[in-house]
Amino acid sequence: MPERYSKQLKAIFSEFVIDTMNGIMVFDGKDQIIFCNKVIAEMYGLIDCSSVYGKTFNQMAAHCYHTNTGIIIDTDDLDSWLAYAKDKRRGQQYRRFEVDLHDGRWFLISEQLVHDDYIVMIATDITDKKNAESRLTEMSKELFLLATTDALTNVFNRRHFMEQALTEQKRCQREKFSYALLMLDLDTFKAINDNYGHACGDTVLVSIAKMIKKELRDYDLLGRIGGEEFAILLPNTSRKSALSISERIRCSIENLNIESKGHSIKATVSIGVAFDKNADKPLEDVFLIADKFLYHAKENGRNQVVLCD
Ligand code: GH3
Ligand code: MG
Ligand code: MG
Repeated sequence: MPERYSKQLKAIFSEFVIDTMNGIMVFDGKDQIIFCNKVIAEMYGLIDCSSVYGKTFNQMAAHCYHTNTGIIIDTDDLDSWLAYAKDKRRGQQYRRFEVDLHDGRWFLISEQLVHDDYIVMIATDITDKKNAESRLTEMSKELFLLATTDALTNVFNRRHFMEQALTEQKRCQREKFSYALLMLDLDTFKAINDNYGHACGDTVLVSIAKMIKKELRDYDLLGRIGGEEFAILLPNTSRKSALSISERIRCSIENLNIESKGHSIKATVSIGVAFDKNADKPLEDVFLIADKFLYHAKENGRNQVVLCD
């Protein structure tokens, strides 16, 4: 490059690196700072650049750590963290990573080894991008909940229950576990609505869903698959346990007093239980079996559990 351009370029770059919106810091081979602009000084919780020259990376990181300013260093053991950082900084020609600051901002840092052992660090403020990302993550979590949860009872909706049930059935099949499928239908629920009103009926559904959930293990599946119908899948469950869990659920609902609008409401439930020892039957067939035994439970007088033979 001709001499006059090179001089011009140096002048332009000197001004640029000081005034740019990006943070720029340069370390020599002993990891001492030989250049720093205002943005990066501030990022490290330092008031001005002049106090930074000659300081090492470790001193700067320790300053952040002890004063809770600048970059968040999340460790109980600063010495190990510094040793780890040194390995990373000097072990790669180029690296990029994100850091978050005590004041809530985020920066994307890129570090490059140049001239053998100098490190040029460039930091770009990505706070807006990170905030937009976390809003998106929140929104997609909310959307997922809306799409998979029954709005009244907060248990899985029909579609999500079916999807999850199929996944569980396949897992049980692979791992050679038995599972049970329970179909529950509230007894004479129409009468509850007729006697106390629809709002009280809703409260009954919510209370019963809560009670069922309380009786289940974390990995059992519960869904509201119709108006006053629930389905439960009990993975890795023996026939005996399926019967005792079903009976426990039936009994706890029978003993429940549901308070709503000044009424104390009692409800009961009929339960049909299908059991698949090797988890190799098509899930639709297992649903039909549970439904059939639910029908028997209703026919036999309601408020009871009927387990397939
Ligand atoms: P059975 O013992 O034979 O099951 O009698 P049942 O009265 O429970 O059965 P039926 O199918 O005749 O009535 C179900 C009732 O459930 C009718 C419907 O209005 C009510 N229902 C369905 N969804 C809801 C809901 O979200 N809230 C309320 N309050 N009632 C509901
Ligand atoms: Mg029904
Ligand atoms: Mg019913």
